[in-house]
Amino acid sequence: MVVTGESEFSIPDALLPADGRFGCGPAKVRPEQVSALARRAADFLGTSCRRGAVRGLVGRIRTGLAELFALPEGYQVVLGNGGATAFWNIATYGLIRERAQHLSFGEFSARFASVDRHTPWLAEPSVLECAAGRYPEPRAERGVDAYALTHNETSTGVVMPVRRVPGADDDALVLVDGTSAAGGLPVVPEEFDVYYFAPQKCFGADGGLWVALMSPAAVARAERLVADGRYVPEFFSLPVAIEHSARDLVFNTPSVSGLFLFAEQIEWLLGIGGLDAAASRARKSASVLYGWAEAARWAAPFVAEPGCRSPLVATIEFAPHIDAARLVAGLRAHGIVDLEPHRKFGHNQVRVGLFPAIETADVEALVACVEHAVEQLGRAAGRGRRSDV
Ligand SMILES: *Cc1c(COP(=O)(O)O)cnc(C)c1O
Repeated sequence: MVVTGESEFSIPDALLPADGRFGCGPAKVRPEQVSALARRAADFLGTSCRRGAVRGLVGRIRTGLAELFALPEGYQVVLGNGGATAFWNIATYGLIRERAQHLSFGEFSARFASVDRHTPWLAEPSVLECAAGRYPEPRAERGVDAYALTHNETSTGVVMPVRRVPGADDDALVLVDGTSAAGGLPVVPEEFDVYYFAPQKCFGADGGLWVALMSPAAVARAERLVADGRYVPEFFSLPVAIEHSARDLVFNTPSVSGLFLFAEQIEWLLGIGGLDAAASRARKSASVLYGWAEAARWAAPFVAEPGCRSPLVATIEFAPHIDAARLVAGLRAHGIVDLEPHRKFGHNQVRVGLFPAIETADVEALVACVEHAVEQLGRAAGRGRRSDV
């Protein structure tokens, strides 16, 4: 492994993981996806996205996702440009009728709540919050027509169940940000109306695209709001996206290589046994990392409650005498990259992506490298003995 940049410690090659990409998005792209792209590129790169080859890719994605998520009759796979962030605006235009409830428990869920709060045609949302490292329970409120959940809060590494809200108004929708969960955690489609995500996390593809799995009630809501006269710019319009997706088109030009990487990963996930198999790969990696952190004297899982701990994004907090930023910088110099905590989350921790594409053996190697690095950092600080680290 080529060492780039400055490191305060050195790690023997034998300890290094085969693949050092542990980011939470963009996340590891499997080499097989990339070589398939190189082999097949001439078939469609640089050709019209209105024609067969590219439409074939959108078709593979839509069919593959419907199978992967076992979507019931009437659910639709809709996609468009702009990533999950664009979908927050799309939801304020096309899904929230008047007032939503948001569960805000990290940077991503807070951002959707903030987008909603600043949307002039919607009422002040109900925002339920809790301390970082947990999730708030949704609770039924009269007049709330959309409940905004986040399956996996990528900033803190907290996972929550996707369930309808008992006692909610009959026509209230459940909108789930599944960006870092989709493809790595099972979910029951009957429990949501919209499950939206972008493909640069579990799907190991390029960002820039949003996907929404939509129930018939969600499709009807989107059409109703436009029919009732709400102004929705075409770019943010769900009816426009639904109509294009049904014909395997994207409203404006998508990244074709991104579509290809995405389609390859969906088919790989189906090939290994679908969402349950993907989740069990992640859980195996997670048990290595959390198990190690629980046993370590100078590290611990940041999410104290085991039931809230994400198997896909693990946050590990270090004792104050270990400088996580120096550790992360030194690991980066050894090709072990993207362990930084979320940039707005000022904790002394690392954040590790454990998406299905990541090999458990690489997570074991990561643990060995962290131990080795911390030992050397401790020595450098003049604490000669291992037991003082
Ligand atoms: C990454 C992420 C987003 C943002 O996705 P973009 O495609 O960059 O807009 C939103 N929500 C969650 C939960 C995420 O993990």
